[in-house]
Amino acid sequence: MDGKIAVIGVGTTGSMILWRSSLRSGGVVGFDSLHPASDNTAVGGDSRMFRMAYKEGSQYSGLLEDSERLWNELGAASGVRILDQTGGALTIAADNGDYARSLRDSAADAGAHFEIVPPDELRRRFPQHQLLPGDVGLFDPRGGFLRTESAVLNAIEQAESNGAVVHKTRGIDSIVPGDGGVEIRSGDESWTFERVVISAGAWSRDLLPSRYAEHVKPGRILLTWFPARKPADFQNSQFPAFMRDSGDVHMWGAPTLDGHTVKLGGIRRPDEIVDLESMNRELTTAEFDASHTAVEQLLPGLVPTAIRAKAYPDLYTRDAQPLIGWLPDLPGVYVTTGFSGKGFKMAVGVGEAVAQDLFGEKQSANVDFARPGRFFDGSPLDNSWGRLIPASPVPAGG
Ligand SMILES: Cc1cc2nc3c(=O)[nH]c(=O)nc-3n(C[C@H](O)[C@H](O)[C@H](O)COP(=O)(O)OP(=O)(O)OC[C@H]3O[C@@H](n4cnc5c(N)ncnc54)[C@H](O)[C@@H]3O)c2cc1C
Repeated sequence: MDGKIAVIGVGTTGSMILWRSSLRSGGVVGFDSLHPASDNTAVGGDSRMFRMAYKEGSQYSGLLEDSERLWNELGAASGVRILDQTGGALTIAADNGDYARSLRDSAADAGAHFEIVPPDELRRRFPQHQLLPGDVGLFDPRGGFLRTESAVLNAIEQAESNGAVVHKTRGIDSIVPGDGGVEIRSGDESWTFERVVISAGAWSRDLLPSRYAEHVKPGRILLTWFPARKPADFQNSQFPAFMRDSGDVHMWGAPTLDGHTVKLGGIRRPDEIVDLESMNRELTTAEFDASHTAVEQLLPGLVPTAIRAKAYPDLYTRDAQPLIGWLPDLPGVYVTTGFSGKGFKMAVGVGEAVAQDLFGEKQSANVDFARPGRFFDGSPLDNSWGRLIPASPVPAGG
């Protein structure tokens, strides 16, 4: 036996599983095919939005409560403000639209407090945003944003100081459960562990049993950075991390972190990636044009030309809910993936819930809604794929 727990993929979720497991036991080992926090993974792009009032459903509230506490614990231990709640988080959405309705319903179910900001007050408090007719604001005072690379690298440092080991640039090719533990292989090397966790993000599909393949797809998400005309107006104290959804308009963004540009995303829906190795990391002309037009329309304080842009991968599931739990098909193997474009905010809560399960403790947050077996036990699935645009069918040959 080479150790107790192997974590395959030390990215957003894997680094948190490593940290939380290392507090409970020795023999915790991580493997990553890249250098952790690589800009080619879902960690890249500086920041992610954090919200407690969350439209995607009250089932996330336990994970979010744990996450808020643990992000702040990681920040205190590492001396870096990983979760920044200075400015809160703002949603601007059509008052009578589905988005605002779902957010209100799910926040009410979860008991999450938020403030409704009428249009006049919205214009006064957040003049950076150009409103559309019918827009209303929903302000989440416990929201904010996360510094992604710092989060992952500090969780790894905490884990290493507890005795965990991380093998960098060691991609795992296969997982073979057996009587004496679970064997994992990378090229001609192999190791055996009591338990193995798959947390390889968009790449997890290659390690999952084949019957899961039709229920997960990698998706390509775009980020763009625009120069602020007056950077002081876009600091976190005045310009909260935000989400906008009014009719066809969709956009999210974060306050300036470099004191000069503002990061935006969500303007184009994510599209399916057919081949992760050859995924287009650049934006197409049409993608740039759509982003520039949206900025002109909604954020006049930004120069409507993106000066930095990149596409990032995440794994989507059929019902846009993650996969968290033991894989009935592979004894001793646990999976945590498929966060469908929304996993960063809850990653450290997931890390804690997974560590509790791995060590036989009662889970503090309920993750039953994410059990991998749901695809096969007749549970109703919403088939939304998290708004992922399916890849066009490959044209017939000839
Ligand atoms: C552009 C963008 C914006 C987003 N915005 C938000 C947001 O505002 N708020 C929010 O909460 N969420 C957001 N998300 C979603 C969130 O970032 C992801 O759901 C989350 O980061 C996924 O984490 P992960 O651990 O599954 O994957 P990753 O963080 O990508 O980690 C996977 C790791 O596995 C490694 N790996 C891959 N294959 C192997 C292998 N065979 N062997 C070993 N290692 C391997 C990779 O190198 C990587 O380090 C966004 C996602 C993207 C891409």
